Amino acid sequence: MNKGNIGVTSDNIFPVIKKFLYSDHEIFLRELISNAVDATQKLKTLSTAGAFKGELGDIRVRVKIDKAKKTLTISDHGIGMTAEEVDKYINQIAFSGAEEFVNQYKDKAEAIIGHFGLGFYSSFMVSDKVEIFSQSYNEDAKAVHWSCEGSPEYQMEETIKAERGTDIVLHINDEFSQYLEEATIEGLLKKYCKFLPVEIAFGMKKEWKDGKQVETGEENIVNNTNPAWTRKPADLKEEDYKSFYRELYPTQFDEPLFHIHLNVDYPFHLTGILYFPKIKNNLDVHRNKIQLYCNQVFVTDEVSNIVPEYLTLLHGVIDSPDIPLNVSRSYLQSDNNVKKISSHITKKVADKLAKLYKNDRADFEKKWDDIKLFIQFGMLSDEKFYDRAIGFALLKNIDKQYFTLDEYKAKVKDAQTDKNGDLILLYTQDADASYTYIQRAKEKGYDVLLMDGEIDVHAMSQFEQKAMGDGEEEKHALRFVRVDSDVIENLIVKEDKAAVNLTTEEEDALRYTFEGLLPKSDKANYVVSLENVSADALPVFLTQNEWMRRMKEMSAHQQGMSFYGQMPDSYNLVVNIAHPKVQALLAEIKEATGNSLEDLNQQVEALRKEQDAAKDAKKDESKEGEEKRDLTKEIAALREQIKKHYTDRAADNDKVSQLLDIAFLASGLLKGEALAKFVNRSVELL
Ligand code: ADP
Repeated sequence: MNKGNIGVTSDNIFPVIKKFLYSDHEIFLRELISNAVDATQKLKTLSTAGAFKGELGDIRVRVKIDKAKKTLTISDHGIGMTAEEVDKYINQIAFSGAEEFVNQYKDKAEAIIGHFGLGFYSSFMVSDKVEIFSQSYNEDAKAVHWSCEGSPEYQMEETIKAERGTDIVLHINDEFSQYLEEATIEGLLKKYCKFLPVEIAFGMKKEWKDGKQVETGEENIVNNTNPAWTRKPADLKEEDYKSFYRELYPTQFDEPLFHIHLNVDYPFHLTGILYFPKIKNNLDVHRNKIQLYCNQVFVTDEVSNIVPEYLTLLHGVIDSPDIPLNVSRSYLQSDNNVKKISSHITKKVADKLAKLYKNDRADFEKKWDDIKLFIQFGMLSDEKFYDRAIGFALLKNIDKQYFTLDEYKAKVKDAQTDKNGDLILLYTQDADASYTYIQRAKEKGYDVLLMDGEIDVHAMSQFEQKAMGDGEEEKHALRFVRVDSDVIENLIVKEDKAAVNLTTEEEDALRYTFEGLLPKSDKANYVVSLENVSADALPVFLTQNEWMRRMKEMSAHQQGMSFYGQMPDSYNLVVNIAHPKVQALLAEIKEATGNSLEDLNQQVEALRKEQDAAKDAKKDESKEGEEKRDLTKEIAALREQIKKHYTDRAADNDKVSQLLDIAFLASGLLKGEALAKFVNRSVELL
């Protein structure tokens, strides 16, 4: 029996391991199985190199639970260890045997895992005692039994072990009894070991017999040793990629849209397969994530430090021994390899999309709606990606035709350039709701885009900014305007409009007539504006400021913009004085009013003159002591009476209510009681 102290500088390393080094206790299993797989791979490498001449034989790694003895055992038939090797590799923590081995067999040893730092010692996180039974592949060496109870003291003795390889026996601490449960271990094996390159057996396969699960004579292999990403793209068919996708995400029912097989040798090693999933909405975007592996050992599915955020919308696997593990997040982002990997993946993804677009545009268009969110997200968050994607990012119009931005600009340029030379792109977020507006635009020969995506508003703003930004001479603006935000004549202004030719009294008549009947709420503001639109536009309609509405929509996605979200909606109620119905209404109001307001109007007029005179006098010198009349207040009071006159009459005039309701109806804002009233009134008016 050989006793000694483990070669570490501090006696306190064990408590440190137990408490601080690994917050995820469960990774001990990954570490031990990685070691077992490593040892097996090493033996295979030696065998190929001719340094090991014996039979490889059964090389499965086995995981066993013994509930009675409270042990968990990981056994391999790998390279094994001699007493000296245990002393060197296990007793002297600082020695990384894997590293030494890699140096020795540089060219053949790609398959060595051993990148996880403390590795073996993590087993003490969950064990009271750990034992090693090992028989080296070198048959001259005696088998060795090592044991340690979680203090720097260990014991080592010669033993007899029939089979080559290593058994690691963990005496599980009572606090961690879950690791003696089959279901827990099965779950961990599925999580970390699903694609390890050596078969891992855990218990026996079970099958249903007479309503019960019974064990078969066959071992239960938990992993696929040859996952698709480790194979050559040339050896894989479309179906192989699809079935690998199902293997990765057993609960995902939608098939992926397409895949990218990554394979880089220089200046870093990286393999993997990325899939474009169907993204239906934001909710399930992050249900399945890209999984990061290191030589087929699962490391994490938190890859946001390794790839740009928009790429985390993809699914699939990245496997690279060159991504440093167990280091802090901030370190990861500044790591040069990680930066290179990230930009490589970005480039690959953009290249793939460009290729798909070029090779089969029709198919690309079919998939566009599903990948749009991803591409827009990428364009918004990464300038480089924008520059690549602008060539294949598509716009869809309401007739379901697809265009790149350049194609679309060329298509509508002649018709939709306004009098200032700005190109106006019309869009709708809901083709049914804005049907009448769309019809009017079409009558003018204009085209309307469908922009109903989650981040379309942001994408449009980006297009607008980019169109302005590149400083070419005589650059004209590009503007997106929602087709129902105003009458079409106002959206794409072709010529200067005729001025509104109304007297002050006529203006009052129309303005107050409508103002009095507008709904009052703190969710929406309305302002009446009199405009000479056109005889064939609606007589009265609502418009909404494009900028304000977009700010509100963006605020839904963006922090710090909630100010806009809380603002009431603000609408213009446009009274189209070019419309015969409005003119008829005005005539009717004037007739009904007669000269009953003459007196009031004259008083206002007189006060205004007085006000002007007072202003001039004030400019000369203000007279002291004299009591000042508040003329503004007096005028306001008189105008209030004028307003009341019109409002009172409007309330009794079905035509005014009818015109207003039609305006609200056309904007989809007539609801509930107001809608019911409108229907009843319409019936009566028939
Ligand atoms: P790492 O694997 O990172 O080198 P470990 O502490 O996990 O660190 O293991 C230290 C060394 O012990 C390994 O490099 C290997 O040489 C040896 N070792 C561990 N487990 C086994 C095993 N099952 N079979 C053979 N050698 C092993």
